[in-house]
Amino acid sequence: MRIFYDEGYVAAAHQYETTRKSAQIAAAILGGRVPGVTIAEPSAFLGVAERWISVVHDAAYVKALRTGEPEWLAEGNGFDWDPGIWTTARHSTAGVLASVEEAIAQGLSGSLSSGLHHAKPGAGQGYCTVNGLVVAARHAIDLVDGPVVILDVDAHCGGGTAQCLDGVPGVVHLDLSTSSFDEYEPMGDDCLVVVGRTDDDAYLEQLDLMLGRIPREAGLVLVNAGMDPHPGISVGTLAERERRIAAFLSEQEVPTTFVLAGGYLHGITEAQLVDLHLLTVSAFAELGASREGMTSSCAA
Ligand SMILES: [Zn+2]
Repeated sequence: MRIFYDEGYVAAAHQYETTRKSAQIAAAILGGRVPGVTIAEPSAFLGVAERWISVVHDAAYVKALRTGEPEWLAEGNGFDWDPGIWTTARHSTAGVLASVEEAIAQGLSGSLSSGLHHAKPGAGQGYCTVNGLVVAARHAIDLVDGPVVILDVDAHCGGGTAQCLDGVPGVVHLDLSTSSFDEYEPMGDDCLVVVGRTDDDAYLEQLDLMLGRIPREAGLVLVNAGMDPHPGISVGTLAERERRIAAFLSEQEVPTTFVLAGGYLHGITEAQLVDLHLLTVSAFAELGASREGMTSSCAA
């Protein structure tokens, strides 16, 4: 399985988990922590990323991200602006687009992108700069037959995604949260469920119901695999979440890609945060290995 990352993801000068952790996770993968996973650079998708960012986001906001002016708009994501903010937005978005095309071609992929689902058409919010989920979904609509599904299991609600998708056909937005931050009113087949912050059993129960809402004819599933339900939700339950998502999507045989989303140093070390995100990478890598096994046994 190929996962997308390059140094542009961490170009922003502002130091925060969202602007730094992808480098640590990439280093762990390059160090062999997850067998069967390689890192690929998404530079071929920088141009298409810029075009889609300008479609999904308002011109004044994109200009602010490029120039830093006006400051209130350029720093709506919660970070001090520097030119690296725009570099990070472009590279992180290119990575999601690259992983979409890789998933459609190979069945499975991911990008070490994060800071996506609170970004609104006209502004950043909540450590999110550009809504790479919506960019990727809109790019994918023309490449697959069935609906594109955004499965968002970050702790917080994807209100930015809902606003950016308003009126865009062919995308189903399924959102399991443990915090009502950025809550919104779901439309059509979309679904938002906010469960108790510390109720592991209810969390997995609602996850299963959410997975059951994925249309059988889905053409692609994008997983926003936030680890910030922790520490309210246990590490074991988050590991089980990733196993269930990977197993379900394997059964459906739907192209799947994931991004990192939230995950913070709230009472844990950097190494423990890397371990949390590797739960996602490992679950999908094992799924990839089992798919390869299926292919070779069929060929034999
Ligand atoms: Zn979050």
